[in-house]
Amino acid sequence: MKRAVVIGLGLIGGSVARDLAARGVYVLGYDRDPATLAEALRDGGIHEALSDLDADADLVVIAVPVSVAAAVLRGLGPRLRAATLITDAGSTKASIVQAAQEAGLVARFVGSHPLAGDHRSGWSASRAGLFVGARVFLSPTASTAPDALDAAHALWRDLGATTEAVDAAEHDRRLASISHLPQALATALASLLSAQAFGRADLGPGARDMTRLAGSSPEMWTAIAADNAHHLVPAVAALEERLGALRAALARGDEAWLRRFFEEGNRL
Ligand code: NAD
Repeated sequence: MKRAVVIGLGLIGGSVARDLAARGVYVLGYDRDPATLAEALRDGGIHEALSDLDADADLVVIAVPVSVAAAVLRGLGPRLRAATLITDAGSTKASIVQAAQEAGLVARFVGSHPLAGDHRSGWSASRAGLFVGARVFLSPTASTAPDALDAAHALWRDLGATTEAVDAAEHDRRLASISHLPQALATALASLLSAQAFGRADLGPGARDMTRLAGSSPEMWTAIAADNAHHLVPAVAALEERLGALRAALARGDEAWLRRFFEEGNRL
């Protein structure tokens, strides 16, 4: 890849841009926020700022909140639509894969989700090497062009990640449990503690660990939760069931149940 367009220069897009620029790729950046674009240029993470979504490039990476990713994909100009690979970094995959199908981009588009990141967001949180050692899910379809899929594997491996292909719907079902539910739980706990007038300084180490994720971007997580509500509803219900059983055991003073409960937690 010689020329890449990165759309959305926050934590993920900014880190992709920095890594690509460090590997000699000519990086063009696009962001709705002019201050972010200016910072990315100043830091050398991108070589050129785009004012619209058309340019010659062989790679397009969309790294915006999942609520706007489909609109960004639909808005790609003719030259970007002809790139060898169009990919994204969104935390959900079914809706963007469907959008690619509807936009006639299914051959060139390979959905990606890097399991890397931070609770911080924006260009200032981005860094070179973010994806080293990370797992990246790729969601090709039967209509994906082989060269686009090869390019997607090569892109993330070149950034130090390992890649794993998974069907988009299965990805979203899995991620509801291993990522979206933990985030929702951390947020619920943090909002409860805050409503009980505790501040961060009051927290013990366990509560600090448990609530660290609650500092994540509300914009990003609202978009993920809304987009994956279909899978998140049963995941939240399963957790409610666990908590309900815990409450009942506590109320009846059932120490044997509590012992089993804490032992089961050690199995993970
Ligand atoms: P971020 O908030 O750090 O950055 C998002 C960037 O997109 C911002 O610079 C914002 O100005 C820009 N943007 C928003 N709407 C835009 C639009 N319509 N056009 C152009 N630019 C626009 O978010 P992030 O953490 O980098 O997340 C980006 C994507 O990566 C999301 O889809 C998220 O689900 C996914 N993701 C995030 C993480 C994480 O840990 N943060 C991990 C894996 C995947």
